[in-house]
Amino acid sequence: MFTIEHIQAREILDSRGNPTVEVDIEAVDDLNGKTAFGRASVPSGASTGTNEALEMRDGGKRFLGKGVLKAVVNANTEIRNALIGMDVRDQRSIDNIMIELDGTENKSRLGANAILGVSLAVAHAAANSIGISLYRYLGGTNAFTLPCPTMNVINGGKHAGNELAIQEFMIQPGGAKTFSEAILMGSETYHTLGAILVKKYGNSAVNVGYEGGYAPPLKNTIDALDALMDAIEVAGYDKKITIGLDSAATEFYKEGKYKVDGKKFSGGELIDFYAELVDTYPILSIEDPFEEESFEDFANLTEKLKDTIIIGDDLFVTNVKRLEHGIKMNAGNALLLKVNQIGTLSESFDAAKLAQKNKFKVVVSHRSAETEDTTIADISVAIGAELIKTGAPARSERNAKYNQLLRIEEELGKAGRFVGF
Ligand code: PGA
Ligand code: ZN
Repeated sequence: MFTIEHIQAREILDSRGNPTVEVDIEAVDDLNGKTAFGRASVPSGASTGTNEALEMRDGGKRFLGKGVLKAVVNANTEIRNALIGMDVRDQRSIDNIMIELDGTENKSRLGANAILGVSLAVAHAAANSIGISLYRYLGGTNAFTLPCPTMNVINGGKHAGNELAIQEFMIQPGGAKTFSEAILMGSETYHTLGAILVKKYGNSAVNVGYEGGYAPPLKNTIDALDALMDAIEVAGYDKKITIGLDSAATEFYKEGKYKVDGKKFSGGELIDFYAELVDTYPILSIEDPFEEESFEDFANLTEKLKDTIIIGDDLFVTNVKRLEHGIKMNAGNALLLKVNQIGTLSESFDAAKLAQKNKFKVVVSHRSAETEDTTIADISVAIGAELIKTGAPARSERNAKYNQLLRIEEELGKAGRFVGF
C-alpha cells in the first residue's frame, strides 16, 4: 500500500493571469519506504455553465477578488486531514470521501477547485507509485486509441474582443493517419489561416483569443467559415480536415431569442440556420448549439442532422444526472468532458462511461484558462475519447496537451491507433 503522507496545495497563475489551485501529493510505500509524487492544477472557464460545480474564489481586493486561498486552505486542512493515511491508489474512495466531506450538491463548501486539484494529483501519485504513465494507470487493460484533435483556430464570443457570436471555430484533421500527422496538418492550416487573415483584414487580425485561435474583426459566421475553408484548401487538406463549432449559445441567448449575425432567432429558426451551415460546409460537430436548458431543441437538432456530432457542454456539465436526462431525450449524441465542471476524476469517468454505454461520443476538453497541466491528454487516451479539444496549436498551455499526446503516441507505438474519420 502507498500511503498518502502529505498534501500541499498552493496558489499559482493560470493562462489568463488569474490565480488557480495546484496540489502536490506525496505517498510512501509501507513496505520499503519508497516514495511517490503527484502534481496537478485546476483550469477555469469564462463561458461557464450555471450547473457546474463551484469554483471557490476569495472575493475582496486581492487579485481583484479572484484569489483562491480559501480553496487552498481547505485542501491543506480539512481535505488533508481526511486523506492522510489512505492508499493513494484508491481513487474512488478518496473522491467519495471528499464528496461526503463537502456535503453539498455542487461542491460549494470546500470548492470544486480544491477537491479537483487533490483528485487529479492523487491519480498522478498513484501512477508514479507503479512507475507507469498516467493514461495506462487510468485506462487499465483498454486497447488504447489517440483522439482526433479539434483545434480552435478562430475565437469569438466571450473568448475574444470581436463580434462573432459563435465562440469557437475549430479544425479537425481526421483525415490524418496518425496523431502526429494530425498535429502537423493542424499547425500548417493554422499558420496558413493566419496569412489569409492578415491579407484580408490587416495585421491585427492575427491577435489571438483565450484559446490561442485568431480573433479577427469579423461579424458573421460565414465569413469565419469561408476563411477556414480557404486555409484548408491552400494548405492542401481539402476533404482531410473537417470543421467543428462551439456556439456556447447561452452567451448569446437573451430574452428568449438567439442573437447571431445581427439577427434574432427562435430555437426553431436556429435549427434551420445550423442545417444550412451543415449543408454548405464540412461541419463534423456542433457544441452547445442552444442555451443550457434547451434539451428539446438539442433533441430536434440531433434528429434533423443525423450525421453531425451534437455535443452537450453547458447542457450536461459532465454531470451524470444531466447526461442521463439528455440520453433519455436523445438530446445530442456526444458528451463534452471537463473535469472541473464536476470536480473529481471518478465522477468524470462515470460520465464518460455512461456516455459510451449509450453510444454517445466523448470529447475531452480544456477550459479557456489553463495551466501547463496535461492530465486531460492522458484522460482522453485512458477513456478512448473520439476527440480532444484543447485550443489552437499555439500557446504553451494549449500545446502542453497536444505535446503530451505526441509522447503517448511514441510510447504506444503501433498499439496506439489514431481515431480519424
Ligand atoms: P470556457 O469555454 O472554458 O470559457 O467555458 C470552453 C467551452 O465553452 O467549451
Ligand atoms: Zn463549450
